[in-house]
Amino acid sequence: MNLLRSDGDKVFVQAGTSINSLIWHCLAEGLTGIEFLTGLPGSVGGAVLMNAGAFGGEIGDRVTRVSYLDGRGKVIDVDSRNAGFSYRNSIFKSADGIVVGAEFLLKRGERSEIESKMKEILAKRIQKQPLEYPSAGSVFVRPKSDFYVGSTIERLGLKSLRVGGAEVSEKHAGFIVNRGGACQKDILTLVEIIRKKVEGATGVILNTEIEIWKEVE
Ligand SMILES: Cc1cc2nc3c(=O)[nH]c(=O)nc-3n(C[C@H](O)[C@H](O)[C@H](O)COP(=O)(O)OP(=O)(O)OC[C@H]3O[C@@H](n4cnc5c(N)ncnc54)[C@H](O)[C@@H]3O)c2cc1C
Repeated sequence: MNLLRSDGDKVFVQAGTSINSLIWHCLAEGLTGIEFLTGLPGSVGGAVLMNAGAFGGEIGDRVTRVSYLDGRGKVIDVDSRNAGFSYRNSIFKSADGIVVGAEFLLKRGERSEIESKMKEILAKRIQKQPLEYPSAGSVFVRPKSDFYVGSTIERLGLKSLRVGGAEVSEKHAGFIVNRGGACQKDILTLVEIIRKKVEGATGVILNTEIEIWKEVE
């Protein structure tokens, strides 16, 4: 499901399209407004579901409608105003169907400007995120808008803490990276250590942004 179709300032994208294909398509079409997601891994479906965001923007701000296959097998169009987009959340997260596509409303722009914005965002991402090692992205959800998880973990001296092959990233303490051979248990042990320390020091209970499907013994 990777169809991409433009109509003027609108782009309709099927859910299996990668975010980067969408961004490159917009560059080719001279459409601006979505460059803030440059370098975000994953598909349009996954990003819409969690209202992915970066560098001050959220995907939900650019979506006008979402095509959704509900639990009874019926495709419905959900207006973005009814999609419950909020910080890393949407109604689709707790629903029983799947996102099959989304329509974006963008603006006409100069290709050279769009491209330099993309390069700028990618450079920021490379500078701030530990992309040199495998990870599942930011581990914890920000519990409130003024609570920065990465810097709190750093202040508590947990940067570079290792369990087996898993390590609290030296570059960004909000990430746990695989330094080689990390297994689920290593990562979950680190998650628990961080949660306990942060709760002890600040009283704040952190919830994970990463999804833990099943804990393996
Ligand atoms: C290195 C790195 C950097 C990241 N940086 C950011 C960032 O800056 N900002 C940010 O917001 N996120 C960030 N993330 C998280 C990223 O947004 C998500 O990993 C990605 O958007 C999820 O999309 P996916 O297609 O990979 O979904 P998956 O990981 O495959 O799935 C995630 C969840 O969505 C569900 N899902 C996927 N597609 C659909 C669909 N079509 N319909 C219904 N449910 C679906 C899956 O069942 C699963 O529950 C980062 C991740 C990594 C690894």
